[in-house]
Amino acid sequence: MSVLVVIECANGEVKKSSLEAASYGSKVAAALGTSATAVAIGNVEANALSSLGEQGITKVLLDNDSRLHDFVAAAYVKVIAKAAESENSAVIVLSNSNIGAAIGSRLAVKLGASLATNVVSLPQINGSSFTVRRGVFSGKAFSDVELTSDKKIIAVKKNALDIDTAAGGTATVENFSADLADADFATAPKETIRQSGDILLTEADLVVSGGRGLKGPENWHLIEDLAKALGAATACSKPVADIGWRPHHEHVGQTGITVSPNLYIAVGISGAIQHLAGVNSSKVIVVINKDPEAPFFKAADYGIVGDATEVVPKLIEAAKALDK
Ligand code: FAD
Repeated sequence: MSVLVVIECANGEVKKSSLEAASYGSKVAAALGTSATAVAIGNVEANALSSLGEQGITKVLLDNDSRLHDFVAAAYVKVIAKAAESENSAVIVLSNSNIGAAIGSRLAVKLGASLATNVVSLPQINGSSFTVRRGVFSGKAFSDVELTSDKKIIAVKKNALDIDTAAGGTATVENFSADLADADFATAPKETIRQSGDILLTEADLVVSGGRGLKGPENWHLIEDLAKALGAATACSKPVADIGWRPHHEHVGQTGITVSPNLYIAVGISGAIQHLAGVNSSKVIVVINKDPEAPFFKAADYGIVGDATEVVPKLIEAAKALDK
């Protein structure tokens, strides 16, 4: 029996959220006295995967079928289910990403498994039952759930747990084929269109985000210049997109995109609960707001009370100076 970790890749690299899942899976495997194997799907080189040994993964199964280079839920589920079968894996660990959300429930139905999403703790293991803690109500509360089926799927919340590299090993990488048929691609993307920017917002390590406090699109260069100086992606609050200052695919929050960067800088955003829902798994939150009573300060790790038009140019200068 083994623990199987599902690895997502972007631009030929393992995503950070999958490194977190790998660390998590290895710890679960150690607690069960077994090994952690991974399955990687899509366009990635074997040498990008062997370093998963640092997170304690012993073996990676790579399905590099070119039809899988774009995400296709049914086909991905089939590959993961076959990998789980070939490795005799009773526990599958995913990242709670968009892809993880799309495959977790399908996989649970296919395997007859218990599924817990948005998991923020390692399991308490009691015989064949696991108890894990999940973030619920947009991160406002936690819920402890018990997974009682023989097979268990755990989707780990991004940034909830550290990446442990103590194992320091090298994983062996084996080609794997799930013998996919055309029927597995009955619903498949025809073309992927990048909407804007070089950095994908959902994967960004650094995000600079602006709200209505920017006063108008003519001031948006403050957000863009700071993002450029830091190598960050740009985002905005919902009203900013509703008014048409920014496109809707940049709007973060309950009704927009969820981001989990290491650093989220919010400029002129009040910090309404609906906005926080999309950003509260960021590792460090910096808030710049001229109102010291703005609710966002309660969720911030660092706060700067001041006018954006005065504070942001100074930050841009400082970021550029760091780069020299
Ligand atoms: P405001 O609330 O107008 O806040 C502007 C802030 O800028 C204020 O705090 C002000 O002090 C500050 N400010 C003003 N001038 C300056 C200056 N010169 N320098 C620095 N700071 C300044 N919102 C989202 O963002 N995402 C969502 O997904 C979302 N979903 C929603 C879903 C529902 C069902 C509902 C009802 C609402 C939703 N909202 C969402 C809207 C949300 O409730 C807030 O209205 C919105 O987030 C406020 O946006 P804002 O902070 O940019 O604007």
